[in-house]
Amino acid sequence: MRYQRLTLLLWTFLLSVMAHGQDYVPGEVIVKMKGKSFQTATQKLLGKAGPSVSLKASFPQLGMHKLGLAKGLTVEQTIQELSQDPNVEYAEPNYIVKKATIEIDPSILESAGADQREFSREELLEASGAVESLGFSQNLAEVDVEQAWTELTSLSSNSSKTVVAVIDTGVHYNHAAFVATQAIWSNVGEVGLDSLGRDKRNNGIDDDGNGFIDDYRGWNFYSDTNNPMDDGRHGTHVAGIIVGVGLDIFASTLPTSRIQIMPLKFMGSDGSGTTSDAIAAINYAVANGAQVINNSWGGSSYSQALHDALKLAYDNDVVLVAAAGNYAMNNDQNDMYPANYPVPSQLSVAATSDYDNFASFSNFGRFSVHLAAPGVGILSSVPSLYSPSGTWTFMSGTSMAAPFVAGIAALVVREAPNLSAYQVKNLIMNSGDHVSSVMGKTISERRVNVNNSIIAAKAEVSTAGYAPNYLAANNSRTPASESSAKGGCGTIGSGGALPPGGGVPPGMLPALILSLLPVLVYFLIRARAKKSSRRQFERFVMKSDMRIKIGERELVGHMQTISVGGLSFEADTLLEKGGVVTMQISSPDGSEQVQVQGHIVWNEANHKYGVQFDNVRDGVVESIRHWTKRLAKSG
Ligand code: CA
Repeated sequence: MRYQRLTLLLWTFLLSVMAHGQDYVPGEVIVKMKGKSFQTATQKLLGKAGPSVSLKASFPQLGMHKLGLAKGLTVEQTIQELSQDPNVEYAEPNYIVKKATIEIDPSILESAGADQREFSREELLEASGAVESLGFSQNLAEVDVEQAWTELTSLSSNSSKTVVAVIDTGVHYNHAAFVATQAIWSNVGEVGLDSLGRDKRNNGIDDDGNGFIDDYRGWNFYSDTNNPMDDGRHGTHVAGIIVGVGLDIFASTLPTSRIQIMPLKFMGSDGSGTTSDAIAAINYAVANGAQVINNSWGGSSYSQALHDALKLAYDNDVVLVAAAGNYAMNNDQNDMYPANYPVPSQLSVAATSDYDNFASFSNFGRFSVHLAAPGVGILSSVPSLYSPSGTWTFMSGTSMAAPFVAGIAALVVREAPNLSAYQVKNLIMNSGDHVSSVMGKTISERRVNVNNSIIAAKAEVSTAGYAPNYLAANNSRTPASESSAKGGCGTIGSGGALPPGGGVPPGMLPALILSLLPVLVYFLIRARAKKSSRRQFERFVMKSDMRIKIGERELVGHMQTISVGGLSFEADTLLEKGGVVTMQISSPDGSEQVQVQGHIVWNEANHKYGVQFDNVRDGVVESIRHWTKRLAKSG
């Protein structure tokens, strides 16, 4: 009961923390060089600028630098000058971003008889059931995490571990939740003995040549050391939730974690950090094998550099999870980054409570926030001044919701290693539960369901990977009138048509249309799975005409069956992967139409092309269900 009261308090209090300022580091800019010769362009630029700018950091994979400015130079003035340099693609401020948790005023908590106290392991074990229900199994919100723990024990002969980068305030890697579970990532190139018999972890040598000396357990980008210890609590709490999705971190005996946390500190103890350090951390995560990145932080300034860094992660098949933000705002109309970058493998996560209420502080967005996860009063690990193995406490925010999703993503990646990061995103969205409080507030209109996602992943074990091309075009929301049309439905690209740089080449369109005319529509998504495996999507008999629009061209075909997962057709001509199609599906009597967006996929097992639906609105499914019911009656 006390906890319920706490939740209510949060809801009323949080409206007062809607500060939403724009900020950047004085005396620093991020610059992206043009062309292929990074070195030459840089030398030219620095030669021209003379002593007024200095090189503070470089990201050669991205063609970027962080520059320091001499005294008296303003960021605005420098950006203007750099933008006119022929060697520069763009220059921008080094924006400051902040953690996405909610601070609760301790006095408010006390007056309600609650507190921000920390629990020792003994206290937790004593309280066991009660505390757990506050932590992960979530009272009335049936996220099925306990079922997942059980399901996982009987699953996956796969012994690999998924690496999740926690880009945050650091991680208390000595916390009991991580030590007993062996959940902290270890850089194998920086452990063991070197040729002189010294411990590689502290020999002062970059043993694996990745540019970081003695980075045996991640990196601290905030102070440029090899010690990513958490001095802000936030990152440790986030990491505990990620591990906790895969196992009961409150249990008296802890199993080995299937998820490994790569601690990458870029925010200080106050929970703020810079975009350039975030970019450095993302680069590190990508280069050192992270398959999932959790970003429980954000800001309102669009950064092309950060967008480009996330695109690099996407190109390396990394699942990206971002907190939607805690300003109770509509992200369709407001800037919130990184959550709003429409990178195809990114999930923007809103928060719900343990009673499946939409958290009053949580940002939302019918076209920009993908799904919801528990984020109110989540119990997880924190460092402690008094105990070297840490303690436990409650925190709230979309910061807590994001790691729920990151943990699921890690388990999905492990169960279905062939799926692309983009497919993992869609699987997680599609396997959540419909919850009324998130209707109209998220793309999927669902809250996560851990067990359903794992079961769905298991059924996808032999599915071929597919990932659309993506261009990190500027999608910042000015002018506001354009915003709602962009990035909608979790589709790819920023225009809604063929993705730039991908899709079907214009010259192939006529051939494509011709080859599609004898379309034999039947359906596929489940077909390549073994007959005994569960079917993820309902299948409907349609016997309807269908129209596919590709650019300006329209194709009419006949469809016999359809499922929410997709449909397929035979085509002799090779298609470039990545074609986005808008399909208009007519009811069998032709009286009604619905539209869905999808993209052309190649199904390796069936050797067929198909159209996979990106996201299907409930209305569409309802319509099809309704039509097929009528068919059954008339038949
Ligand atoms: Ca190294």
